[in-house]
Amino acid sequence: MTVRHSTDVVVVGGGQAGLAAGYHLRRQRLDFVILDADPTPGGSWQHMWDSLHLFSPAEHSSLPGRLMPAQTGETYPSTGHVVDYLADYEKRYDLPVQHSTSVDAVRRGAGRLLVEADSETWRARAVISATGTWSRPFLPALPGRSAFTGEQLHTVSYRSPADFTGQRVIVVGGGNSGAQIAADLALDGHVEVTWVTQRPPRFLPDDIDGRALFDVATARRRALDAGRSDTGGVASLGDIVAVPPVRAARDAGLLTAKPVFSRLTADGVQWPDGSHTGADTIIWCTGFRPALAHLAPLNLRGARGHIPTDGTRALGEPRLHLLGYGDWTGPASATLIGVGRPARNAVGEIAHLLRS
Ligand code: FAD
Repeated sequence: MTVRHSTDVVVVGGGQAGLAAGYHLRRQRLDFVILDADPTPGGSWQHMWDSLHLFSPAEHSSLPGRLMPAQTGETYPSTGHVVDYLADYEKRYDLPVQHSTSVDAVRRGAGRLLVEADSETWRARAVISATGTWSRPFLPALPGRSAFTGEQLHTVSYRSPADFTGQRVIVVGGGNSGAQIAADLALDGHVEVTWVTQRPPRFLPDDIDGRALFDVATARRRALDAGRSDTGGVASLGDIVAVPPVRAARDAGLLTAKPVFSRLTADGVQWPDGSHTGADTIIWCTGFRPALAHLAPLNLRGARGHIPTDGTRALGEPRLHLLGYGDWTGPASATLIGVGRPARNAVGEIAHLLRS
């Protein structure tokens, strides 16, 4: 039997983006619910690897309304600290998060949007989708991938070097995850690591952390909005934030990258010059795609799997907003400090729509 509910707004996803939306929905005194697939608070932060720390200090990693407290003894907070902060945020603002609720579909019906999850359906006047990217890991289709008989995993399944003691591991990916996981393994000293990147790794200057990235993303958005030329944004500075472990591994000469192999073989990889490196495990740090499958019935998909938006509002469905997926839904909107502003704008637009 399906249980039916009615509300002003359903937020799909209760990670940092969904919670930031909840904060502003409370302030607008709208009736809403946040549906979150995870059984516990913290969004994707609760699934990230053990040694990961933020690339910005706590005071530069806050959601609207509540400054993240500093973590004792750490300039850059651990993921556990972020999870505690998000759990506290949920409670502090009494946000109605229904955990263990995975939304399968959002569709149009009788003047409302229908949000379907398992045995429950919500009739909503507006929907904010804030499902992130963590549940959609991307793996490139490189030749021989299915021929490799060792273990293959993506960033989402990596936990700690202890799982690879004595192994030959190839880490693929020249972004932050690739550099940090390669550094984590190399610094451990018990794993033979080969780091592979599509182009030579581009480290940001050592004195630049997440604070500057947010400023650069914002400046780029302002320039584009004002019709000025593209500043290139964060990508113009480099790909990899030189967080302390990355710096340590790089300075110890442990973080030199090789260009991508030409194919995988049963027991390793073959390089363009024909030589071969044996491997027990390949870790694909090759990024994510937005988790938008639940929106498929609305038929809104544009190029590159994105949904075309004006700000956060879907062009093809004005009652739907997309929040937190990346720069295409607001500058630095996939960061803790960056999601507050697009959340406020999305909720402001929804409040206006519902009251007009
Ligand atoms: P998520 O945290 O992924 O939350 C989405 C939520 O939606 C989850 O709880 C999930 O269960 C739920 N969900 C998904 N699908 C459904 C569905 N169909 N129905 C219901 N619920 C659903 N940002 C920073 O600001 N500082 C950093 O230092 C930083 N470091 C990062 C390091 C790594 C390795 C990564 C991957 C990202 C980092 N980021 C950082 C970026 C960013 O802050 C995170 O990606 C952030 O978790 C995105 O938040 P979100 O709320 O959009 O998505």
